[in-house]
Amino acid sequence: MKKIVIIGGVAAGATAAARARRLDGEAEITLLEAGDDVSFANCGLPYYLGGDIENRSSLILASPETFHDQYRVKVHTATEAVSLDRENRKVLTKNRNDGSEQEFEYDSLILAQGGKPIVPPIPGVQQNNVFQLWTLDDMDSIDEFINKSNPRSAVVVGGGFIGLEMVEALAKRGMKVQLVERLPQVMPNLEAEFAGFLSKELQDFGVKLHLGSSLEKIDGNTAYIDNGSKLEADMILLSVGVKPTLKLAKDSGLELGEAGGLLVNDRLQTNDDRIFAAGDMLEIEHKVMGKKVRIPLAGPANRQGRLAAENALGGSKRYSGAGGASIVKLFSAIAGSTGLNLKNARAAGINADAVVVHKASHTAYYPGSEKVSLMLIFNKDDGKILGAQAAGRVGIDKRLDVIATAIAGGLTLNDLEELDLAYAPPFNSPNGPVNMAAFTANNHLSGFSPSVLAQDLEEFAKEHQPIAIDLRDPISFNKANLLGSTNLSQNLLREHIDEIPKDQTILLISDDGQKGHVALRMMAAEGFEKLYNLSGGYISLERQQRAAEFTALKVGLFPVEKRSIEELEQGHSEEAEEAGGETELSESGPIVVDVRTPQEFNMGAFPDAVNIPLDELPNRAEELGAKDREITLYCASGARSSYGQRILSQMGFSNVENGGGLHDMMARA
Ligand SMILES: Cc1cc2nc3c(=O)[nH]c(=O)nc-3n(C[C@H](O)[C@H](O)[C@H](O)COP(=O)(O)OP(=O)(O)OC[C@H]3O[C@@H](n4cnc5c(N)ncnc54)[C@H](O)[C@@H]3O)c2cc1C
Repeated sequence: MKKIVIIGGVAAGATAAARARRLDGEAEITLLEAGDDVSFANCGLPYYLGGDIENRSSLILASPETFHDQYRVKVHTATEAVSLDRENRKVLTKNRNDGSEQEFEYDSLILAQGGKPIVPPIPGVQQNNVFQLWTLDDMDSIDEFINKSNPRSAVVVGGGFIGLEMVEALAKRGMKVQLVERLPQVMPNLEAEFAGFLSKELQDFGVKLHLGSSLEKIDGNTAYIDNGSKLEADMILLSVGVKPTLKLAKDSGLELGEAGGLLVNDRLQTNDDRIFAAGDMLEIEHKVMGKKVRIPLAGPANRQGRLAAENALGGSKRYSGAGGASIVKLFSAIAGSTGLNLKNARAAGINADAVVVHKASHTAYYPGSEKVSLMLIFNKDDGKILGAQAAGRVGIDKRLDVIATAIAGGLTLNDLEELDLAYAPPFNSPNGPVNMAAFTANNHLSGFSPSVLAQDLEEFAKEHQPIAIDLRDPISFNKANLLGSTNLSQNLLREHIDEIPKDQTILLISDDGQKGHVALRMMAAEGFEKLYNLSGGYISLERQQRAAEFTALKVGLFPVEKRSIEELEQGHSEEAEEAGGETELSESGPIVVDVRTPQEFNMGAFPDAVNIPLDELPNRAEELGAKDREITLYCASGARSSYGQRILSQMGFSNVENGGGLHDMMARA
């Protein structure tokens, strides 16, 4: 009968124990856990604190008793492995409650000790209003402190995924939250413009950001940061990173690797062939780079635990590495990444490039559609997909997962263009964000529609001194623009094309990059050669500026929108009601009617226009007055207003004109 001992009883360790039992009904399996709990859902802790998960018990996935009853695994909690006798294959443990020592013999040992949150060495971190979140005990302490002390203000230190999840949780518990992050952006694995999307969400929800700043000391209810600010902090949550738990391994002479984790081969075997390892304590191969990295995430930990169990029982399964797919939810925003980001790909010596698209999560005409922002990172030499970044409010996980699968399968841009993905209006578009990103990347790569990333714009502008043409409507342009750019809507661009010098580089800026591509092809047909489209358009440029300010370029930011937890919980219904308010119509004289939706109308409209959405036009036509009244209809592109014109003409209105899109209307103003 084989003796398997597992050290660490949460994600990797608990999975390894259960898998070992399924593979071998006879083996003696022992699980040693230093803490009081095994197999709990640490990923769920912030959501319990924020109130999304109501019952603490739902976070407990298995208990020592269930492990014993269901799997006949002997679980020893409060039992810390303190040393290994590799020669005699024994683990020495110490009970954390009574200090008693015990020895456990093994044929195979699995280390699944995970990591520990880093505590920054600064004054005040030991105060009782300073917390970290790693275990159920940590969660309980935070919960108890909030319930007893009713803190009104909080400072979260660290803008990684646990820090951001805790910002939301503490805001939901009624605190005014400030975030301190040492780097210039939140979520260091994201490209700046994707981090900028999250920064805007934080600002919209009233969270004050202190980016590029470090916590220097804590004194009572004040957090001091290195830019001289003193922040009011009834409580402080530290979330500045995780370090692998390696003392036992190091003391036992197990080899560590170049990325600072425990070194294992592709069977997850350490330099002692009786000792396997899994989870956060390891360094593993990055699937795309081939380099050793640490990816301390639950998915890889669980799968490694499973595989380590099989190999500890004599199997020879190979671990192929991880691509590092991860995702975070922050209020109503979602962002994540998979594979390599552009910076890491280039640093690894890969001839990498990227494009950005902002495409509807599903057909715009079906309710609930939101833009999915997707950066697709690829190898210019062979078109292989290297990674992706995604942000938005709906359908982000789906796009990241598709691309994670594409990376695992070694797919290229051409494969991605052709990828058949499920479509019906509530779920996707016939050419959804993934296909569209591949088209855009191939258009860029082939030179058919060259583009510039927002993050490269400063460099590009220095080198090419381009004429920047902003194709957005004047209302959007006036809200925020690139200083020095010229606003010319698509129709005006045609009218003024002869005035644009052909020998100069032209940079086209549209809302999301799509109209820029159309205009670029139109200008190419007119004989322009030095044409570039701003990838992801002004949306990307604004986010880039928000996350990592340009030095020479002056980019206007969209105003911060005031949003609240109440609104979040009501699912934006107030906003929708407000947007749908009644419009007062004058009785006579020329009238301009905007037939877009109330939401579109509220984003900006022609001066003095009244809003009658196209669907309401037949029923509300009477409000327009006399049948010979001079009426101009417009919408976003001129399509809906042309239908409106037809409807009114059929109803007997004789003086109706289609004013076209908002751009065309504003050009008349
Ligand atoms: C708040 C929070 C939120 C998270 N959210 C996500 C998420 O959304 N998505 C995601 O992918 N990942 C998330 N993670 C990370 C994920 O939980 C970890 O990657 C995963 O738990 C790692 O599993 P592990 O088994 O390697 O380590 P752990 O789960 O940390 O377990 C290691 C265990 O080993 C025990 N141990 C250590 N040394 C000894 C010893 N000498 N003797 C006995 N026992 C010992 C420890 O007490 C610990 O219980 C989150 C983590 C936290 C804390």
